[in-house]
Parts: sequence; structure tokens; C-alpha cells
Amino acid sequence: MSVLKTITIRCYAELNDFLPSDRKQRSFTLSVKEPVTVGEVIEILGIPLSEVDMVTVNSQPVGRSYRPLENDYISVYPTFETFDIGSLKTAQKQPLRITRFILDTHLGKLARYLRMLGFDTLYRNDYSDEEIIEIAREQKRIILTRDKLLLRSPRVNHGYYVRTIEKHGQLKEVVAKFDLYSRFKSFTRCMTCNTTLLSKSKESICDRVDPDIYNCFSEFFYCPACDKVFWKGSHFERMERIILDIINDKSENDHQNLRR
Ligand SMILES: [Zn+2]
Repeated sequence: MSVLKTITIRCYAELNDFLPSDRKQRSFTLSVKEPVTVGEVIEILGIPLSEVDMVTVNSQPVGRSYRPLENDYISVYPTFETFDIGSLKTAQKQPLRITRFILDTHLGKLARYLRMLGFDTLYRNDYSDEEIIEIAREQKRIILTRDKLLLRSPRVNHGYYVRTIEKHGQLKEVVAKFDLYSRFKSFTRCMTCNTTLLSKSKESICDRVDPDIYNCFSEFFYCPACDKVFWKGSHFERMERIILDIINDKSENDHQNLRR
């Protein structure tokens, strides 16, 4: 016969997004059946393990396979991509050094924006969940998704549930979450296909663009995969405003944090 154990749990920061209102931002008790691991308890709560970085039991870090004891106090912390918690890291696998992404089928616009900032971002509107997970594992990519169920697969090592629905907001959220500010390489990647753009001399593209464009601009770029020539026209100015907006937002937040 299985034994019931009573444990107390508290989930921190954005992990509360996955909890019902009576469990948000507070400790709550749970009766669990033996044998159960702390990883399984977190999944029962509806939190994808890929969102969890650290679990402590009575203030001591534990791994996901830890089996809770009667009256344990369990704290669950989200992925600390933006600051270093050093040797306390136990639940999350090794952090990825190069930030590469693969996005689910709902995030096409975000994919274009991340490529605009120069981040290697795979996206197709017909990827299956299984393909996304497989490619992410093979190529060490972070999965960005609007589908909480996808992140619950035990085969997902690095994944993040994008909270915001509005497209610019999604970009801001991801840039802040992974602290990408210092790693922008804007306008170096094709927004349509993710290929790195080549710089082209003015002479080499003279038969590829209208004479007006040719005369107005001095810098040209080429995507070998799409066979397209780009220049810094009105589209570029719109993109530059989006980037400025992200940077201004960060300086405002930094300023507020300093005053706190
Ligand atoms: Zn392209």
C-alpha cells in the first residue's frame, strides 16, 4: 500500500505563471504518494521542468530525483539565465554557451525579430513538436514556445514558455530573459531564412536594384539562400526603432533598479 506524505511547497517568480491563483506567491501543502520524486511533484503542479533551475529542500539544494520526506519544505526556483548562482545549480542541465533558438509554429514573427538582432533562430510553420525537440537536442538550441505541454516532455533540456502575446513584447521578454542586450549583431542575418548575410559592393549589385535605390544607398547585403539583395531603406529604419525601444526600456529598468 502506498504511503501519503505531506509536504509544503513554495514556487518563486515566473514559475507562479503555471499555478492556479490559490497557489501563486505563497506556500501550500500537498499530500503525495510514495514513491514520488521532487521532479514528478513539480510536473504534477503543471510546471515544465525545463523552466526550473533549482530546487531546495529545507534550504539545501537537491536534484530532481530526490524523494520528499514527511514535512519537507520545498522551494522551486526558475531558470536563472540572467544571473549566476554558481555551485548552487543542481536541477538544470549545463547552461548553453551559444544562444541559439528554435521556435514553435506560433512564433513566426518573433523568429524574424530574433534573426533581425542576429540570433541564430530556426522556425518553420510546419514543425511537429517531436521535430522541434529533436533538433533542439541535436543542435543545442533553446526551445521558445507558447505551448506549455511541449516543455513538459522529459526530452527537453532547454526551453522557455513565452508569456507575452504581443509581438514586440515577446521580443523584449526573450531579450530580457536571456540577457541578450550585449549580444546583438543586428542586420547580419536574413529575417526570412536565418542565413548569414554577405556584404556586397555597390558595383556588384548594380543590375539587381532600381537605379533610384542604387543612387540613394551605399551599403548592400545579400542572402545567398534567398538570392535577395537588401539595403538600409524604410524597413530598416522601422527595425532600428524597435531595437532602440528595447535598449531604452532596459536603461529605464536599470535606472529604476538603481533607485530602489
Ligand atoms: Zn534568406
